[in-house]
Formats: sequence, C-alpha cells, structure tokens
Amino acid sequence: MTHRIVILGGGTGGTLTANRLRRLYPDTEAEITVVDQDDRHVYQPGLLFVPFGLTHPEDIVRPRSRQFHDGIGYVQSAINHVDLEANEVHLESGPPLGYDVLVVATGAVLVPEETEGLTGPGWMEKVFTFYSPEGAAALEAALATFEGGRLVVNVVDMPIKCPVAPLEFCFLADWYFRERGVRDRVELTYVTPLDGAFTKPVASRRLAGMLADKGVELVTGFNTGQLDGADGRLVAYDGREVGFDLAVVVPLHGGAPYVGRSPGLGDELNFVPTDDRTLQSKAARNVFVIGDAANVPASKAGSVTHFEGEVLVENVRRHLAGEPLDSGFDGHANCFIETGFGRALLIDFNYDTEPLPGHYPTGVGLPLLKESRLNHLGKLMFQWFYWHALLPGRDIPGIGSTMPRAGKQLVPANTSQED
Ligand SMILES: Cc1cc2nc3c(=O)[nH]c(=O)nc-3n(C[C@H](O)[C@H](O)[C@H](O)COP(=O)(O)OP(=O)(O)OC[C@H]3O[C@@H](n4cnc5c(N)ncnc54)[C@H](O)[C@@H]3O)c2cc1C
Repeated sequence: MTHRIVILGGGTGGTLTANRLRRLYPDTEAEITVVDQDDRHVYQPGLLFVPFGLTHPEDIVRPRSRQFHDGIGYVQSAINHVDLEANEVHLESGPPLGYDVLVVATGAVLVPEETEGLTGPGWMEKVFTFYSPEGAAALEAALATFEGGRLVVNVVDMPIKCPVAPLEFCFLADWYFRERGVRDRVELTYVTPLDGAFTKPVASRRLAGMLADKGVELVTGFNTGQLDGADGRLVAYDGREVGFDLAVVVPLHGGAPYVGRSPGLGDELNFVPTDDRTLQSKAARNVFVIGDAANVPASKAGSVTHFEGEVLVENVRRHLAGEPLDSGFDGHANCFIETGFGRALLIDFNYDTEPLPGHYPTGVGLPLLKESRLNHLGKLMFQWFYWHALLPGRDIPGIGSTMPRAGKQLVPANTSQED
C-alpha cells in the first residue's frame, strides 16, 4: 500500500521533512507531496545582515522547488483550509489533496496591521522591519542615510521568530554606526515586552550587560499598543512612551491564516496545538507539526525545526506502522548571536536547561555564552550548512537532536560566569 503524505509549507521544516521521508520510503511505499504558495525559499537568518549591506536579498533566496529530492511532488498554490474529518487539504487553485498523514509546516506570519498605527504614516519611511526581504532592503537604504537621532528597536510581543535577532540588530547597529563614524550622534534603544534582554535568566543578564557595554539603552516590560509614525512615538498599553527618529519593529506574529479556517486545527493565534515531545498535533492523530507553526514552548528557530525533524519523521513512520510514538523531542535549540566586530556568542538550551556557559557540543567545542571569532565564523558558515545539509535532511555526525550536556557549566540560578 502506498501512503499519501502531504506536507503543508515548503520552508525550512517542510523541505527537510520531505527530504528525510523520501530517503526513508521508496516511491512505491509513499507518495510525498509538498504544497507552498510561492517558489522563493528565503534563508531567513540572512535577513539580519541585509540592512547593514553585509548581504543582499538575492543572495539569500533560492527556488523552493529545487530544494526537494527527486520523487517529491510539489504543488504551488496557497492553502485554503484543511478538512480534518475528510482528511483533505483544499487549495486556492487545483483539486483537493487527500492524505493519510499530514505534516503542518507553514511557519509563522507577520501581522503588523494588528498593532495600531504600525503600518500607518511613516511605514517604510521611518518605521521598518527587517523580518521580510522587502523590509530589510528598505531599511538598508534608510540606515545608509541616517545621520543621527534616536533609533529604537522594538519587539511588539512574543512569540517571535528567532528571539535573539532583534538583539543582534542592536549589536550590529552599534558596530555599523561606529564604522560610519556617526555613533556619537546615534542613540540606540532596545524596547522589549520581556522583563529582561532575553527570556532565560543567565543569558538575559549576559546580554543586558553587553547592551550596556555598547551604550544601548534597555527598556523592559513595554507592551506596545500603538505606534505613531508621524510624531515618532511608541505608546505602551500602560501609557509609557518612547520617542524615535527611526523605528525598527518586530511585528506581532501569528500562524498562517488558513489554520483559522480549518475547523479544529489551530488556537486563537492560528498556531497548532501540538504535543511538545512527539510533535503529533492535538487535533488529529495523523497530523504532525514542525517548526514555527507549532505552539510548543520552544524557540521559533530553524535550529529547533532541524532538531524536531528527526523525531517527527520517526513518528510519521511509527504512526503508519501502528507503533507507539517516540516522545524524544526535548525542545533543543541553539543559536549564534552576532555581536558585531566579527564576533558572536553561541547559546544552546532545551525545555529544561537554560543557555549556560561552557562549550558545544562537547568540552572542547565552540564557546557558549562567550564572544568569539570562531562563533562568528560558525554563523557565517551556517548558510552553507543550511542549503547543503539541513534542508537535504542530512544527519550531522556528533550533533544529534537531543541537547548535549557535556561541556555545559552548571551555574546556580541567580549567578552567571560574568557576575
Ligand atoms: C530575521 C530572522 C532571523 C532569523 N535567524 C535565525 C537564526 O539565526 N537561527 C535560527 O535557527 N533561526 C532563525 N530564524 C528563524 C527561522 O528562519 C525559522 O524558525 C524557520 O525558518 C522556521 O521554519 P518553518 O518551516 O516553520 O517556517 P518557514 O521556513 O517560514 O516556512 C513556512 C512556509 O509555509 C508557506 N506557507 C505559509 N502559509 C501558506 C499558505 N496559506 N499556503 C501555502 N503555503 C503557505 C510559506 O510560504 C513558507 O514557505 C530567523 C528568522 C528571521 C525572520
């Protein structure tokens, strides 16, 4: 019998899942079909570098259809909705697709229009986001002519993709304006809804210290309710205000809108309720979820998506074979944090262990929570790794999906190496 496996979304998670499944099953055992709305696969970590002229949108985009192994069907259409009762996906164009197993990999979308005033006066003139190729390119032009004033980086609310990216933007902005010789005329402010620079305490203290060292003001607990681009003001729900001459905003995120049109599939934000260990959806036993689309309490990051892939593909196999599922996904995430001047930090953590100092993946690997040139080179090399190892679904020797403990220094909850 040939299993019909349909994968919704051909980004990071959908592509690596399709390629791993294709290696697992010969054509005669599984028909694998990926659906996506366009043929532009964006290497999203590269968006951080576009505003600073360090890369260009055309250098981080490749044809989506070319990333799939032979024998994977690709349907280019927007998804209209999923009918969980009938096991069918309804497309904007083309006949419905029936499935035995569905993998949801449609990621997260930006919803800037949900914040009052954000896309009003000043949008793409003095209010930008680098979270889309168009926004990142427009911001590059604005930064190049910014001669001084207050630049505010604002995260409207969590969850967002790659929660460290706005911090990296602050560090790179400090470097960029120093290179241009105008740093003394630029005030940098980071405005976050969190109660610190990051979600986890040890890394949060380390990153807050680095912001301070680089002269970036940190405003915490700020829940942006409105953005007034004409006057240059962020206004919080509690009435606090932060003025700006240039705003770099990470807008609210939600799941793909079709999730909301699919009865029983999503939550109020259109993310998909998912078992955080098996990656099986809570909506139906034959629906699995990978990447940013899931509501699991892990970071919305490509690294998480990569680590999830191994467990998810094994669980698709077990489900089809009638075996109990593997509950082995531990929330493993890691991320290079670019800090400017050719250096970067690395953090590695999971559901239970916060980012700690030490080395990755063993006692002699890359330094954790510590700036180094090696980490910066790792960040740059990651793009090659993404196209040639992560998307093709290759296993990396010595790096498994479970977070390694060897190499990590356990520190008491309220201290850190830097204290
Ligand atoms: C600025 C920035 C920097 C980042 N930096 C890092 C980093 O340094 N490290 C890291 O690990 N992660 C980073 N990330 C996050 C990482 O890119 C994402 O977590 C990862 O791509 C998630 O993969 P995904 O498959 O869930 O979603 P995506 O890769 O976004 O794919 C979702 C796909 O679904 C498709 N889709 C959505 N809705 C529909 C529909 N209705 N019909 C048809 N198709 C649809 C989309 O077209 C898209 O191709 C960054 C993200 C951003 C924005």
